[in-house]
Amino acid sequence: MPYPVKNPRFHLVFWTRLCRLPVWKRVLIAAFLLPFLLVGGTAGAFYLRLHQNARAASVSELPLFPSPQKNKHYLILAPHCDDETLAVGGFIADARAKGATVSVAFLTNGDGFRVAATRELKAVTVSPGDFVRFAVIRQAEAKRALQTLGVKPGDTYFLGYPDRGLRPMWEKNWTTPYRSYYTGHTRSPYLLTYTPHTPYTGQSLQNDLLKLMNAVRPTDVFVTHPGDDHPDHAASASFAQAALHAAKQTKAPWADTVRTHYYIVHRGDWPLPQGKYPGANLTPPAGLMTTDTAWRVYLLSPEAEAAKNAALSRYVSQLNICNRFLTSFVRTNELFGEMQTSVLPPETGSTTNDGWTTLGVGGSRDDVMRYVDPGADISKVCVQRRDGNKIAVRVTLRGAADTSRIRYSVQVGGGGAVQTVPLPEPDGKGSRILTVVVPVTPAPSGMIWVAAETRYRGTAKIPMRPVDRLGYNPLVWVLSKKSENYSIISDGFRERDGTGIMK
Ligand SMILES: [Zn+2]
Repeated sequence: MPYPVKNPRFHLVFWTRLCRLPVWKRVLIAAFLLPFLLVGGTAGAFYLRLHQNARAASVSELPLFPSPQKNKHYLILAPHCDDETLAVGGFIADARAKGATVSVAFLTNGDGFRVAATRELKAVTVSPGDFVRFAVIRQAEAKRALQTLGVKPGDTYFLGYPDRGLRPMWEKNWTTPYRSYYTGHTRSPYLLTYTPHTPYTGQSLQNDLLKLMNAVRPTDVFVTHPGDDHPDHAASASFAQAALHAAKQTKAPWADTVRTHYYIVHRGDWPLPQGKYPGANLTPPAGLMTTDTAWRVYLLSPEAEAAKNAALSRYVSQLNICNRFLTSFVRTNELFGEMQTSVLPPETGSTTNDGWTTLGVGGSRDDVMRYVDPGADISKVCVQRRDGNKIAVRVTLRGAADTSRIRYSVQVGGGGAVQTVPLPEPDGKGSRILTVVVPVTPAPSGMIWVAAETRYRGTAKIPMRPVDRLGYNPLVWVLSKKSENYSIISDGFRERDGTGIMK
């Protein structure tokens, strides 16, 4: 059957005119269009594959996450008001129904969501004061949502830190307060704040988390996955890991046995398919399926699914803006991942992986820009300890390194003291491997990172995992940058068998 068009003669006229053009003009037009067709076709094929895989994916092979138990205390850390309901809402409802204690702490009040604030306040422009007013509305929505899930009002905590500010607080503003781009404040202006007037510093947030954890003594902590695209979400994982590490250092009794579970909210187009499919599974994002995050499936009871749906409906200010995305999370299951701590051998000469410890395996499974640019796609990161407090970082790319076009660097540091070390030229032309030796200075929080970034992904970074035996607890990231202004993540975690590069 011919493709239906409104005016079939249009195509005829177009092709007739094209064919009448001189050959050189036709060649010129073809040469002009070819790159667009190639990139468009590749991107189209990539997304088609991604969606087809998502449709075919099933959670039946993933192990089950255990049912909540009455004697447990679950602490949910949410970067913004709604993340807890989206990713953990069903589990929270079931846990409360069984009599378990559930505490929820919001790291920010989501006071930087301009589009939602504009709509909610029916304003054309939004002033700094309006952002604060909007955040108070979000706090109220969160309280109603948690009440719907059965969480006691006294078990809800608003830490009051700035939306979009967690990553800068983690990297730069450890002791010098960060100023919110939206509210203009450098300390919490909210009446309802865990530590009233808390300054916007990384140190304050870590102190708050530690204080809160010591107060509630959680058996299980739920926090956003470090591979989440949103910078606040990735940074929340770092803060949680730092606080848990500090708790272990102080020998807090609960810290010996606490379990950490990671949930994901933002990852490319995920969840696929988007929209309300209440009978569908929620499968992990393709890019995080083959990494060493061990995903488990929590099957929702019909009551839990209904409670989650009802709780989500309390977030009116969010549903007005991104209904399709938010309702994608009301499915038959929730997903929680666990990651193991790596061990970096004390000196070189280890038999593991030729002396290299694999820290992360990334790849372009769910990112079209990395897929079409293999030279900017970091597929593997290994480290090796050298001369005491130095580490060698070896970065493997999916395609040949191109230092004329891409700048590669390793970022080391944390707790406000992050240093960026450029990666030198590769050994030979066409090489996919870059190596650098980095001195490791303990940051104020006693951690280091190597970050992976490329230009298409915003500026979030992925802490790969804690690595022990350096005397402190480093997290490692790798960074590649195409320009000063843009950066994207190449992220991911070690493959389950710890070998090889993702194909
Ligand atoms: Zn969020």
